[in-house]
Amino acid sequence: MTEELCHEHQCPIVKVSTNRSARCLVEWLLDRCQGSRVVDFIPPVDDEIVGEIVFSTGLVLPVVRILRLASVNPPKPLWKHKSLDVRLDALSRFIYDGIHWMPRERKLYVQFVYKYGHDYPVMAEIDVDGALNELLGEEADASVEDFLNGSV
Ligand SMILES: [Zn+2]
Repeated sequence: MTEELCHEHQCPIVKVSTNRSARCLVEWLLDRCQGSRVVDFIPPVDDEIVGEIVFSTGLVLPVVRILRLASVNPPKPLWKHKSLDVRLDALSRFIYDGIHWMPRERKLYVQFVYKYGHDYPVMAEIDVDGALNELLGEEADASVEDFLNGSV
């Protein structure tokens, strides 16, 4: 199946009904992540992902892995610690800092600043299909709301 892509980012588009405009993944994430930080973490149900991060805006994204940039001599990855409390404390220091979409690889990254003494850049690779599911869910909810409000 070929996926419909937006012109601006070459990223996947979700359109739930004829009366709602299409939303692309990158625009949606830029909207939903703006000014947010990580407030919670949902442990994984399978080995495919690290877990799901919950943003202060309510957004939930499945994370495949968290990458540190070797060039900046980062601290220990406390978000991998065996204690959930330590993991949560580490993740709550993640401040959103941008979206990176790589169309050819079909890879999506959320960039964070990890505040641990200093500011360290950290990238979370996001499960693209999982993120699309979230977007689809939100759009479907909004479309039901439109219907109930009689605007359809
Ligand atoms: Zn796009």
